[in-house]
Amino acid sequence: MSLAENQVISNQLQSTVVGKTIVKVIANQNPHTFVWFATEPQYAFAAAEVSHRQAEQYEELLTGKRVEDSQVHLGSYGVYNFLYVGDRALMFSLPTRYYAVGEKPPKRHQLYLIFDDGSSLALCGSLGGAIYLFRVDEKGLAVGYPPPDAPSVLSDDFSESFFLDLIKNTDLEKLKPAKTVKCFLATNNRIPGLDNSILHEILWEAQVNPKSDMAALGEAGYKRLYAAIKKVFPAVIEAGGLDTWKDIFGKPGVYAAKVSRNTLGKPCGRCGEPIVKEPHLGGVVYYCPKCQPIHKNKKERLYDET
Ligand SMILES: [Zn+2]
Repeated sequence: MSLAENQVISNQLQSTVVGKTIVKVIANQNPHTFVWFATEPQYAFAAAEVSHRQAEQYEELLTGKRVEDSQVHLGSYGVYNFLYVGDRALMFSLPTRYYAVGEKPPKRHQLYLIFDDGSSLALCGSLGGAIYLFRVDEKGLAVGYPPPDAPSVLSDDFSESFFLDLIKNTDLEKLKPAKTVKCFLATNNRIPGLDNSILHEILWEAQVNPKSDMAALGEAGYKRLYAAIKKVFPAVIEAGGLDTWKDIFGKPGVYAAKVSRNTLGKPCGRCGEPIVKEPHLGGVVYYCPKCQPIHKNKKERLYDET
């Protein structure tokens, strides 16, 4: 999930569950290898056996507690939604659904909370994710689980000079597993909250190809990337998410994705060329082959031509 989705979820939790008291908790009903539970940072991303034992404490730690607030914070490994309960925060980054009174609850979930008014919240990650329940300090941050040393893309600290320095201070020729734009922007938590789900919209906006070599873009390309990051995140949040994603009510956002499974094979909104889909870095990338041409650095192009 990208920071935009976390922020939309947080805004919606603010108006649905903040102020309510948790009366019933079901944790780890459908154990998932890549859904992790931990009540202390030392158990974060622990082996399944440890994680499942940690989950057994959630009922006692959450039942009877009032949800005081909902916020989004960057953390090691990415972005988390924080629901504040007592002296702890329930920290998570996975699909979240809210069920009003009378709505049918889900069959499968990793954490299910029922509130005093009969409404409920389900966290269910088919792709996995963390569901932590850590103590928090006076700033609302998890004790012993410091945020990464990187500003949020939504903050003023994420300035153009910060972004250009980040590129300058990275050895672009040694990027792993590839030297590409997608690898730089959306892996290794280099830019917390920028992941594959929002990457394609940013790159379409910047007219940059995900498979281009990061080193081949040059300063003009980097500046277009920066401007697109600063434009797309707030726009997606404002629109309640991308139309390829569902919010806590199960409704899609209204930000029309320009390059996604919905527009595959359809004319590009800028130039009319059909949008394509290709495998890259163990996932897929969507782009317009005409206005997002692939740039490779010189050495590699010479090699390709021989
Ligand atoms: Zn195009």
